[in-house]
Amino acid sequence: MGPAIENLMASSQYILGKPVEDFERAFAALHGMKYCVGVGSGTDALHIVLFALGIGPGDEVITAANTFIATAEAISLTGARPVFVDVDRATYTMAPELLERAITPRTRVIIPVHLYGQAAAMDEIMDIAARHGIVVLEDACQAHLAACNGRYVGQFGVAAAFSFYPGKNLGAYGEAGAVTTNDETLAGKLRILRDHGQSKKYHHVTWGLNDRLDAMQAVVLNVKLPYLQTWTGDRRRHAEKYDLKLKGVGDVVTPVVRPGNTHVYHLFVIQTSRRDELQRHLQAHEVQTGLHYPVPLHLQEAYRFLGGKRGDFPVTEQLADKGLSLPMFAELTDAQIDFVCDTIRAFFG
Ligand SMILES: *Cc1c(COP(=O)(O)O)cnc(C)c1O
Repeated sequence: MGPAIENLMASSQYILGKPVEDFERAFAALHGMKYCVGVGSGTDALHIVLFALGIGPGDEVITAANTFIATAEAISLTGARPVFVDVDRATYTMAPELLERAITPRTRVIIPVHLYGQAAAMDEIMDIAARHGIVVLEDACQAHLAACNGRYVGQFGVAAAFSFYPGKNLGAYGEAGAVTTNDETLAGKLRILRDHGQSKKYHHVTWGLNDRLDAMQAVVLNVKLPYLQTWTGDRRRHAEKYDLKLKGVGDVVTPVVRPGNTHVYHLFVIQTSRRDELQRHLQAHEVQTGLHYPVPLHLQEAYRFLGGKRGDFPVTEQLADKGLSLPMFAELTDAQIDFVCDTIRAFFG
């Protein structure tokens, strides 16, 4: 990593340039896509696509109730209204049977979230969207290299948003994100919009944003990208081991993979009715866990104006109360997984 960063410093090309172009080409190719446009973060990636599509006040954009706030923020930033749909009880991604009911004449975009590393039910969602003439934007921020029925995420919607926040499956050394698309016109528009609407320096065909992928982060991502497939395989093996060792332990529910999906386990989320107690027990044994997410968006102060109340999205609320994210990263060792699972088994007695 050091020499790659020193090379960039010697070139003083910190904004866009070759490292960004190299990364865009490689990242698009890895997901079987034609275009990739590097942007400042995953949040920017979602927002800039909505911005490019002309989404604004009076529009509604549907997304999953169980997601990180960034998905909803990207919608709010355009002036559009986020509309939440509960997730599937087994797989935790947008429930297609509930999606149809949330569609109104104002619905412009559907943003399924490939949550925890598992692709949403894309065939069903694409069918519904096509029937209503609505555009789909995939939130793939947690799902690099995840697949659904043999196709990588990003290959379904008009575009997909990826995050390279340090904790994501492919992490930069700071903020970074990207949009992938097969739509040449959209890709061209995004390149202009991310760079203040410039077609060339100081010639602004429109007003845009400062949403460029930092060249320093592109350098870091170029060094790490060749390892992504190996790291993803490691995560999948860890998940298999967790799954095996936690079967039948207490009331623990392990993740369910939808048939045809390749889950990349950004997170390994279990459910138990004794979640808080178990988390304290693990913490006492120096095992750090996480909650994704402890307060659902419809119950957040930020989204009180939407009028959501407890009971609106039962599966999302259940995950908030019972979900626990166990340690999951490529470098986990078998001994560490054994220790976590033995500690959980001891807790349930
Ligand atoms: C991380 C994340 C984002 C936002 O990505 P940033 O790079 O942190 O802006 C959006 N959606 C989901 C589901 C995420 O997990």
